[in-house]
Amino acid sequence: MHVGHYLYKLGKSTKKAMITIVGAGPAGSYLAYLLAKQGKKATVLEEHNRIGSPVQCTGIVTHSIENFFKLKNEVIAKKLDKVIVVSKNSRIEVNVDEIVMWRDKFDRFVGDMAQNEGVNILLNHKFIGLDGKNTVIAKDKKDNKIKKIKTDVIVGADGPYSAVAKAAGLNSYSINYVGMQAKARLAMDTTAFETYFGSDFPDFFGWCVPESDNIARIGIGCFENAQEHFYRFLKDRTGKKDVLCWESGLIPLYNPKKTIQKGNVYLIGDAAAQVKATTGGGIIPSLKAAQTLCDCIINNKDYNREFKRQSGKELLLHLRIRNLLNKFSDRDYDKLLGLMSKEKVRRILKKYDRDTPIPLVANLLLKEPRFLLFSRMLFA
Ligand SMILES: Cc1cc2nc3c(=O)[nH]c(=O)nc-3n(C[C@H](O)[C@H](O)[C@H](O)COP(=O)(O)OP(=O)(O)OC[C@H]3O[C@@H](n4cnc5c(N)ncnc54)[C@H](O)[C@@H]3O)c2cc1C
Repeated sequence: MHVGHYLYKLGKSTKKAMITIVGAGPAGSYLAYLLAKQGKKATVLEEHNRIGSPVQCTGIVTHSIENFFKLKNEVIAKKLDKVIVVSKNSRIEVNVDEIVMWRDKFDRFVGDMAQNEGVNILLNHKFIGLDGKNTVIAKDKKDNKIKKIKTDVIVGADGPYSAVAKAAGLNSYSINYVGMQAKARLAMDTTAFETYFGSDFPDFFGWCVPESDNIARIGIGCFENAQEHFYRFLKDRTGKKDVLCWESGLIPLYNPKKTIQKGNVYLIGDAAAQVKATTGGGIIPSLKAAQTLCDCIINNKDYNREFKRQSGKELLLHLRIRNLLNKFSDRDYDKLLGLMSKEKVRRILKKYDRDTPIPLVANLLLKEPRFLLFSRMLFA
């Protein structure tokens, strides 16, 4: 059936359309909240018995999260005003405005927003597959019973392993980083987080983020040999190889060719690889995507096209910067940090956060033309 025809039926029907969202992460819960606010009937299936667990994230976001909602204080672990960027032979401090969240509390905060708007969240419900276009098969993990749920729209907000994407044949073009992260005992400056670049962190970077006075979230992303790189970094940074708990997971690489809608099945968040390829940050892009998808469902718009129109350029720029950085030698990183340490550049980095790369890059080029050396490679 043609997509437009299907959506036309959904938009005009007098009977309330059923929307089933798989996954109560930030993408699924925020989308459910937005749809319910517009009077739509949304049900969320979550396979775990509690929203937000297990944690597989550092939980660091820029202040632009407040463009979506005001965070409750209990969700915030720390506010950081500096990032320390480290390369092989260089180290600089840049002023920033970042929030470190308790990721489990954040997910529950967004889940509560959805429930308060009337969304039905079914915990312990694992999506198993589709039976035709309008039936979701789920397993109730409490009694091991299989349920068939009639629905008009299906949304896969079920993370990087998305079973919905597989069931709908939408899982092509998926490339993921291994994001290996653990909590470790470490007393560090609790107003700053650290990022590490260069040949010891191939294809991505390493991070060390304080969550309290003596515990940090330490991680690396890479395509290969994640354990080896992680343990070396952990030992270098903390002096030990001791881990308090693991918080690892996959980080999808954005791919502009990925199809994120087929008929009445949509993908969002990590399931759609809507992640900034520079940082691996997916929380804010998934909230923005929820706004786009809500609008598409309600107003019969083509989500593949609308998402590209609203977020595609920014995510593509992140991807190009990532591809450029992945060609960098240790010397290139040292040079880049040299440029970033200039006062006029610092002011720009502070003014434009990572979520708005287009004005950031444009202003960097205007104020420090030597960035052209790097940016030429971006579009080569
Ligand atoms: C180590 C690491 C560090 C990261 N750090 C950051 C960071 O600092 N900042 C940032 O912005 N992003 C970070 N990310 C990325 C961020 O965690 C994701 O982009 C974000 O969680 C995407 O949200 P989501 O709702 O799409 O998916 P998820 O948060 O993965 O939520 C998916 C939900 O679906 C449920 N689910 C899965 N399968 C099924 C099924 N079959 N049936 C029912 N339910 C199902 C899961 O239980 C889960 O609740 C990090 C990722 C990793 C791995």
